[in-house]
Amino acid sequence: MVVVGGGPAGAVAAHAAARGGARVLVVERSPHRPPRCTGLVGPTTLDLLALPPRLVLHDLRAVRVVAPGGAVVEFRVPDVRGYVLDRRGLDRWLLERAAEAGAEVWSPAAAMGLSGRRLHTTAGAVEFEVLVAADGAASAVRRWVGLPPPGELLVGVQAEVEAPGAEDRVEVHLGSMLAPAGFAWVVPAGEGMVRVGLLTVAGREAFSLLDRFVARRFVGRRVLRREGGLIPIGPPATTSAGRVLLVGDAAGQVKPLSGGGILFGAIAARIAGEVAAGGVDALPAYEVRWRAKLGEEIAFGLQGRRAFLLADRELDRIVPALDRPVIHRLVGTEGDIDRPSRLVRALLSHPSAWGALFPVVRAVGGWGRARKQGGGLSADPPHR
Ligand SMILES: Cc1cc2nc3c(=O)[nH]c(=O)nc-3n(C[C@H](O)[C@H](O)[C@H](O)COP(=O)(O)OP(=O)(O)OC[C@H]3O[C@@H](n4cnc5c(N)ncnc54)[C@H](O)[C@@H]3O)c2cc1C
Repeated sequence: MVVVGGGPAGAVAAHAAARGGARVLVVERSPHRPPRCTGLVGPTTLDLLALPPRLVLHDLRAVRVVAPGGAVVEFRVPDVRGYVLDRRGLDRWLLERAAEAGAEVWSPAAAMGLSGRRLHTTAGAVEFEVLVAADGAASAVRRWVGLPPPGELLVGVQAEVEAPGAEDRVEVHLGSMLAPAGFAWVVPAGEGMVRVGLLTVAGREAFSLLDRFVARRFVGRRVLRREGGLIPIGPPATTSAGRVLLVGDAAGQVKPLSGGGILFGAIAARIAGEVAAGGVDALPAYEVRWRAKLGEEIAFGLQGRRAFLLADRELDRIVPALDRPVIHRLVGTEGDIDRPSRLVRALLSHPSAWGALFPVVRAVGGWGRARKQGGGLSADPPHR
């Protein structure tokens, strides 16, 4: 099996295939490029990937939501629900794990094109039995084999700013002037440092929106680094073609509400690796297995994304209305950044929460299905 891309999805697929007995080669173009990522994950990612504690920069116990007009609601939970990871360290560690399991790594080496079952790279050509495309949101392999792109490509930009952040809190800022059809965030990222980012449909405007937000929120603070990338929202109808499997961002395996792709990509990549280790005849199981696992939560998130289109004046009413005991209590018991459907289901079954949520439910076109469905994201054994 050959894997194009040594990001988290590629490394997890390589590890799973090597553990399953396959001969594996990973081809990674830019091992030293800083990843464009905030590194925010939930506990499921830590468990699934069996991550060492040294990769965790911060434990998160609270989220503060800020409405366009400045109204604030903060939800604090009794236990840790999120982690900020050293994302560069994560990529390196996952690739080392794949190599320890027996995968060969060519790095730096870029995939340049395909002819039949031959992959051409800057380090030479290689024959493959199965090709896993883990080459990110703008996947070239996806284009070469004629698979469709993800439903939508949004832009995610972020800056590292020298500023004290609340050690255990994420801020989420809403507003059409700030992040059209998206949101902005502030996350602690090491001593005296925060990652400030935004996810938006605004394409080329994204960096100026980010600069404006940073200048307003962190007056006079030094910006150390800025970066941006595409965020695929909604997987294409097909993520495999013959001997080629798309995984991770290349397959749009991303949480549609947040744009987070580390966990969903890793879940699907592991399935891809397991399936590929079973040989070509096993490949059709990939599409079925990953959609069974992630499909419901992705469908839920795609529907929920419509809430980002709510008018600012509605958000200004909704955010303070969330500040009621029943919602705080349910966030405490049901809040899960990897499975937001769980909290929504709980809220929908509590009539006392309906008043605050009604405009959101109306905006997303009803969340009736969420009430019935469990979401397919069940626990997997750790990655060892
Ligand atoms: C600003 C921003 C913030 C984000 N924050 C979060 C977050 O907090 N939490 C979260 O879960 N997700 C976050 N994401 C999303 C997350 O970064 C991605 O979902 C995740 O990196 C996807 O992993 P991947 O392995 O599929 O792709 P990538 O991480 O993009 O890796 C693809 C790899 O393929 C390599 N490659 C590409 N083309 C070739 C080629 N031709 N030959 C060889 N190698 C190639 C690249 O060099 C790269 O290493 C964020 C994204 C952005 C843009």
